[in-house]
Amino acid sequence: MSLPIIILRPKREASIQRKHPWVFSGAILKIILPEEANEPEEGDLVKVLDSKEKYLGIGHWGTSSIAVRVLSFKEVEIDTAFFEDKFQSALKLRTAIQLYGQKQTTCFRFIHAEGDGLPGLIIDIYNDVAVVQAHSKGMANSFELITNALKLVLGKKLQAVYSKSEQTLPKQYAKQFQDGYLWKSDSKKDGKELVKENDFIFEIDWVLGQKTGFFIDQRENRNSLQKYCKGKTVLNTFCYSGGFSVYAIGANAKSVHSVDSSAKAIELTDRNMELNFPEAKNHSAIVQDTFSFLTASEAIYDVIILDPPAYAKSKSAKHNAIQGYRRLNERALRMISSGGILFTFSCSQIIHRKLFEDTITAAAIDAGRSVRILEHLSQPADHPVNIFHPEGEYLKGLVLFVE
Ligand code: SAH
Repeated sequence: MSLPIIILRPKREASIQRKHPWVFSGAILKIILPEEANEPEEGDLVKVLDSKEKYLGIGHWGTSSIAVRVLSFKEVEIDTAFFEDKFQSALKLRTAIQLYGQKQTTCFRFIHAEGDGLPGLIIDIYNDVAVVQAHSKGMANSFELITNALKLVLGKKLQAVYSKSEQTLPKQYAKQFQDGYLWKSDSKKDGKELVKENDFIFEIDWVLGQKTGFFIDQRENRNSLQKYCKGKTVLNTFCYSGGFSVYAIGANAKSVHSVDSSAKAIELTDRNMELNFPEAKNHSAIVQDTFSFLTASEAIYDVIILDPPAYAKSKSAKHNAIQGYRRLNERALRMISSGGILFTFSCSQIIHRKLFEDTITAAAIDAGRSVRILEHLSQPADHPVNIFHPEGEYLKGLVLFVE
């Protein structure tokens, strides 16, 4: 089948030659339609050539500022074998980092979009269920290829594939790809899954939960928290399903308070606490806006975790986001005991590490606290960053010692 051909302006091929997978609309000189090819529509496959008509890559067409998300820099077909090859390589990485096939951790990110050479595609594994999240229509159009390739690569270790893409696809296409199973073996039951993360148990509800059901990206940081918790009072804000809280109780914290504005999240937190520590009397979970909790409370905590949702989703929101992080961290810093610990995060991709750290510095000045950095935190190895696509780095965190 002939594909539409995208010709780039002279000198605009440099970034794609350096294997950056995005072509911006401003880089395009013209579109050539070979015989039988139609005008490209959102999600269609297109070929990209430089101004001298030399082949650069093949990818999905989009009508936003990113015009092409490149899937391959070679002349290949985008078929089941293409996805199979990418999934094999993803599996190799997860095996190398000792995640795949482990008993103590049965949930992990299998495909991290550009980080695994598949822009627009996220796949998280919960035991034998793959939860697929398409961020582009091109990937949603490929669900059948993706499902077939997953079955070939994971074999019996895969029993169901669920699409959770309505919230991540561009709005106008969401209805076309309603959330639901793309495939399920006859023996597999519908519904939730109990997974293990570093031997702690979490119930994953990919149907009603946020994202694909769990914030897998905090696994290593939850582990880091444990060494600071013994005998301490801990406040876990923006707790979602209580990941940090479970680890804190597991590390013998004196008490843990979990706060989230979503009642469903608090329900999940209570459920996960019950699954791990049915006897625990030193945990309480509260439905409340974090900022109003911090403002109203006069309590002092030894350890505070701040893991807010992405405050800045677009460049225009950057200024307000910085103010938000600053006020939140200032307020938390005021509530920490002398010698206490703050775990503070930003998952906004457009707030870079340096800017985030400068914002925390400003918060420390506002709060009048002496602060030292103990650890720099980031996303774990199953969320790899493609070195040619530094935009893939999004999660930043600091562990601070507060005097
Ligand atoms: N730390 C969590 C993930 C946090 S995701 C984990 O390890 O799993 C962000 C969470 O913040 C979501 O659960 C969302 O419901 C919650 N949230 C968003 N705005 C909030 C607010 N203003 N106050 C409290 N919680 C909020």
